[in-house]
Amino acid sequence: MGITIERIGKSFRGLPALDNIELAIPDGELTALLGPSGSGKTTLLRILAGLETPDTGRIRFGETDVTDRHVRDRRVGFVFQHYALFRHMNVAENIAFGLSVLPRAERPDRAAIDRRVNELLEMIQLESLHDRYPAQLSGGQKQRVALARAMAVKPEILLLDEPFGALDAKVRKELRRWLRNLHDELHFTSVFVTHDQEEALELSDQVVVMNHGRIEQVDPPQTVYERPASRFVFDFLGRVN
Ligand code: ADP
Repeated sequence: MGITIERIGKSFRGLPALDNIELAIPDGELTALLGPSGSGKTTLLRILAGLETPDTGRIRFGETDVTDRHVRDRRVGFVFQHYALFRHMNVAENIAFGLSVLPRAERPDRAAIDRRVNELLEMIQLESLHDRYPAQLSGGQKQRVALARAMAVKPEILLLDEPFGALDAKVRKELRRWLRNLHDELHFTSVFVTHDQEEALELSDQVVVMNHGRIEQVDPPQTVYERPASRFVFDFLGRVN
């Protein structure tokens, strides 16, 4: 399902965080929101998730206007830094969480939930860690469990806020490749926030470069790299993290 963002504006205490954002996020693609700290990436992602209300503008998922829809009714999966794994639940319980809180009419029975959890554990290649608690997992493993949890309800849209931010370079590279493969297999629509230009260029189908609450460029990675649309994009891509 594609996403249409129409003239979205948002200010905090009179200071604009997003200034009339217009953007189409194509169905089935991986889109990166790339920009320096404070450019509005997370605010835009939170508005897509329904965790933040825009001051102006509309959000559409496919043909449906979801602007006034509560986060619970948007049916998006998200992996946000502030929504870490539940510490008192083991891996399987964490993954099952989204299914167990579905409205009764849609909630699978216990056996179906167990089956789905096992499928997801296989997908993230952590079958053997079914009963572990988050404290017993590495950073990369935790992040894979968070992804499996987000995908448990088969969302058509997946939102990721700096999904690999806290991980070391090697694990990051592995997880990137893994997410890319998963995406190519399952064809959901993803939007992920990063301030790392290499990550955006390597992983995405479309890069949205943001600066001061505005969009500087929207293009496939290669075009952004070869033909930066502004001095800002040129300088930002040239920066080494
Ligand atoms: P990024 O994700 O690109 O780092 P953010 O979307 O987090 O940028 O922030 C954009 C701007 O909005 C920043 O100036 C930030 O300080 C401000 N901002 C974001 N969230 C809040 C909030 N809840 N209250 C006040 N200011 C906020």
